[in-house]
Amino acid sequence: MGRRRGFGKIKKPKVAPFELIDHTMKPLPEPYKLMAAVRKDYHPDIKEARIALAWRKEWKADKDGHLKLGMCIKASDLQKELAEWDFVILLNFEVWQSKEFDKEKKLALLDHELMHADESLDKNGEPKVDAKGRRTWRIRAHDVGEFSAIIERHGIWKRDLDRFAEAIMKTKQKSLEFPEAAAGASGDVVVQ
Ligand SMILES: [Zn+2]
Repeated sequence: MGRRRGFGKIKKPKVAPFELIDHTMKPLPEPYKLMAAVRKDYHPDIKEARIALAWRKEWKADKDGHLKLGMCIKASDLQKELAEWDFVILLNFEVWQSKEFDKEKKLALLDHELMHADESLDKNGEPKVDAKGRRTWRIRAHDVGEFSAIIERHGIWKRDLDRFAEAIMKTKQKSLEFPEAAAGASGDVVVQ
């Protein structure tokens, strides 16, 4: 006598959280087109890096209500054996599709994530290579790590924030207002 387990409960299939964006598609998908433009203008040092883009779907905000817009990940040695990529940049699918997330913001997000992709150099400033003769890469940390509330309350008080402030001034402080609650977030968004 077979028991009908889970009777009455129809489970929704789980959304696959990751989906590689096809870089072989013609015309080239928008995120790759925009990334190529940003790379050409601002990231000549990582010209040789192979960078994949992937959607991250239904990204949940963390306990502090921060919703990630993107994330840059360096391929591990094992992952490099599996696929020919040095980095993968995850893009928040729901945010990217939203109307408020215009081209300027897409470019800023890609530029931000590409800042994390850095070349590894040896003591003489020459590109480092691994035993297989492949160039090696690293993840660059943010220049600035601060709570926005602290900046609001105290201004730019840390010395290491000065460079960041200068950069902001130069670009006339183009405001980066990201859409709220794209995936149930409580407001804040973060780029990681
Ligand atoms: Zn970041």
